[in-house]
Amino acid sequence: MHRRRSLAIALSTVALVAGSVVVGGAPADAAGTTYQLYLTGRAIDGYRQGTIVRASGARGDTLKVGSKYRYRGSSAAPKGKVTLQRKVGSGTWKTIKKAKQSSRYFYSAKLPAYTVPASVAVRTVKYRFRSARSVARGVLNTDYSATFTVKYENPAHYTGFQRTVYDYIAPYCPTVAVHLDRGIAADGAAGEFQWQRGISIDDTTVGAYSPAWQQGVALHECAHYHQFSAFGMSATGWKAMEKHSPSVFVNDVDPATNAPDFPVAPDWEPLEHAADCASHAVQPAGYLGYGGYCNPTELAVGLALLTRNAKY
Ligand SMILES: [Zn+2]
Repeated sequence: MHRRRSLAIALSTVALVAGSVVVGGAPADAAGTTYQLYLTGRAIDGYRQGTIVRASGARGDTLKVGSKYRYRGSSAAPKGKVTLQRKVGSGTWKTIKKAKQSSRYFYSAKLPAYTVPASVAVRTVKYRFRSARSVARGVLNTDYSATFTVKYENPAHYTGFQRTVYDYIAPYCPTVAVHLDRGIAADGAAGEFQWQRGISIDDTTVGAYSPAWQQGVALHECAHYHQFSAFGMSATGWKAMEKHSPSVFVNDVDPATNAPDFPVAPDWEPLEHAADCASHAVQPAGYLGYGGYCNPTELAVGLALLTRNAKY
C-alpha cells in the first residue's frame, strides 16, 4: 500500500510584493533633499503573510521579512534609517537590528532565532519595521510597517503522535512545526508541507504505519522545507526550483530489475521525487510515496538536501 504524500504550498498566497510606487517625485529643493518615507506593506519572503508558525529553537530559521516603502520627496530614493522591531508576547516593542535596503523600494531583514522559555508551550512574537525621522538624512517623519506574526511552538510540549513525528524530523528540520490534521487522508495523502505552517500529518493513517514508514513520511515533508528554504522561500525561488530539480531527479528505472521499484504515481514530479529520495537516503526502509527508483546520485543529493540545505 502506498499513500501519496502531497505538497501543499498555498498558491493562493503567491501575490508577490514587487517594487513600490513613488508617490511624489517632486524635485529636490535648493536647500537640500527632504522626504517623507512610508512603510507601506509587509511580506515574508515575497509572500504576503500575516502569520506563520515555527518550532522554537536556538538554531533559528531562514525567515526573511520585508516591507515596501514609498516616499514623497526628490526623485532619488531616500536613505532612510529603517530598523526591525520585535514584540514578544504582551511585552513592548524593541529595536533588534537594522534593516537592509534590499532593493530600491524594499527593506528586508532576517529574523533572529527565537527560543520559547521551557515552561511555555507557544509564544506569539510580532515584528515590524520602523523608519525613523532623521534630520541628517532628510527624512521628516517616523513610520511603521504592518506587523508580521510568528507563532513559535515549543516542541518540548508536543505530546503523542505529534511528538513522535517531530522527533523524526528534529535532527534535520528542528524549526519546522508539526501538526496533526485528520483532513489530509481524505485527499489521499499522508502528510503535507506548508511553508507557513510546517508539516501536517494525518495520524489516522500514518499512525498505523511502521516506524520506518512514519519516519519516511516525516522526512519527505521535512525535505520539502529544505527545498523551499534553499531557494529563498519565495515565489520566484519556487519557480527556479521547479526548473532546477529535474537536472538530478529523473524518472528512471532500477538497473538491477530494469523496472521502477514502485509503480510511478500519475502525479510524479521531480520535486516530489527529490523529497522521496532525500527521505530514502536517511530511512531506506521507508517507501517512495510517488514511486520510482532513487539512483545513487539522487540519494546523495537527497541527503545533502536534508543535511546541507542543498539547492534541489
Ligand atoms: Zn511531497
